[in-house]
Amino acid sequence: MNPYNLFINGQDVAPASGNYFDVLNPSNEQLYAKVAQANSADVEQAINIAKSGYKTWSKAAPKVREAALLKAADLIEQQGMARLLDILIDESGSAISKARFEILYTVDLLRTAAGEARRLYGDTFPNDNPDRISMVLRHPLGVVAVVSPYNAPLALLTKMVAFPLAAGNSVVIKPSEETPVIALEFAKMLVEAGVPSEVIHVVTGFGLECGAPLVEHQDIDCIALTGSTQTGQHIGGVAMKRMVKAQLELGGKSAALVLPDVDPKKAAAIVAQGIFTHGGQICMANSRVIVHSDIYQDFIEALKAEAESLQVGDLRDDNTIYGPLINRNAVEKIQQHVDSAVAAGATILTGGSVKSGLIYQPTVLVDSPNTCSAWTEESFGPLTNVVKADSLEQAIDIANDSKFGLSASVLTKNMNWAMTAVRGIDAGSVHVGMHSFQSNALAPIGGSKLSGVGRSGGAYSTEEFTDVKWVSIEVNESL
Ligand code: NAD
Repeated sequence: MNPYNLFINGQDVAPASGNYFDVLNPSNEQLYAKVAQANSADVEQAINIAKSGYKTWSKAAPKVREAALLKAADLIEQQGMARLLDILIDESGSAISKARFEILYTVDLLRTAAGEARRLYGDTFPNDNPDRISMVLRHPLGVVAVVSPYNAPLALLTKMVAFPLAAGNSVVIKPSEETPVIALEFAKMLVEAGVPSEVIHVVTGFGLECGAPLVEHQDIDCIALTGSTQTGQHIGGVAMKRMVKAQLELGGKSAALVLPDVDPKKAAAIVAQGIFTHGGQICMANSRVIVHSDIYQDFIEALKAEAESLQVGDLRDDNTIYGPLINRNAVEKIQQHVDSAVAAGATILTGGSVKSGLIYQPTVLVDSPNTCSAWTEESFGPLTNVVKADSLEQAIDIANDSKFGLSASVLTKNMNWAMTAVRGIDAGSVHVGMHSFQSNALAPIGGSKLSGVGRSGGAYSTEEFTDVKWVSIEVNESL
């Protein structure tokens, strides 16, 4: 098995330490790849080259940046599909349906970002002095540190890379230590598509040894992190200390409100997709469900039936909804959430233990107290909690009883109820008639409260990865 090196300046580069770490295939917990373990010396090298690459890339014509991103999308669509599918399945434990969706979303993101290269709009505004002209110029930031998670390791990385590149920044990527191979493959495709090799680099390794020296480096001009709230709070502090922009997309505990006018079976099917897709390893997963008491009993019976009918395990089968969690720690965390909820008075409606290997059963808890970790913390696994509410107002209050504010879902046909919930729920997005896990390359995705700072997607990403400069001009001959 050939080890994977760092990808710096278009080259495979051995790590300064000479060390390689093991990446396991979560389906069998066997070795999937040996990957270079970067430290601050490697990070320094990548940043220095990215800094000099920025000078030319930031001045490249928009059509040049646009063409490279469009070509990357074409390469993935026409040649990369099979290879990327295999990596997502074997490295990150993605079911093939999720992996396919992720790759198509990646293509969409690249094309959307390509369009943004031509939209670095500025502005003008009136001045009371008729001899003065005021304008606002938009410009890229410099070198962006991109720190990515394991759960959708291609699409979420693309989001944090394609938009900064479109705006003329250079990037140094620190992918999750669980899923470095997909990031290496992606960066190589971008260079093949025409992104200059000085402008995109991948340093693989661990958070403290590789991620920390990257985000703390004095030549980093912006930090993009998609990851846990704990990491986000730390990196946010680092960014504020250096006064650089930080886009932080963090954890969630997204609520689904199930109101009394819906068919409980149809609502249960939507909620089951919203929580069990990719085994709940989705930041916007419907991990809390608040059901109106009028249909509560029918709903929980239907959700139990849905959960028990799901196909889990064989990642290469199109009907499989999820397979293994990423690692043993993830399994232990969800088991601890279930056990402590039960100890606090919750009831297991279905599931509640490991099925086999790292595959955890689709699990539904009812009556979880709002103090137990299954309710308050992100489980990031196939676990949801269902509670009852007697009114819409009470359901909204329960939804807002969380330190997170990423996404929410409202299942109703009544538009007055829907809009009352949309206005009342404190979250970065609210989806009506759908589950809370939605994506769109143009949408402003992000959260309130501890779910993060900033928004990503389309023009919202351009805003994050650029800055503006006020320019005023005195138009007279008096100087
Ligand atoms: P994580 O926070 O453990 O790791 C994310 C990345 O940060 C990894 O690359 C890790 O190595 C790095 N890192 C850790 N400590 C660091 C440090 N001190 N300095 C620099 N880098 C450091 O997250 P994860 O477990 O990989 O991903 C799952 C989390 O991501 C969940 O909480 C999930 O909700 C969140 N997430 C959020 C969104 C969103 O859009 N809001 C999307 C996907 C995932």
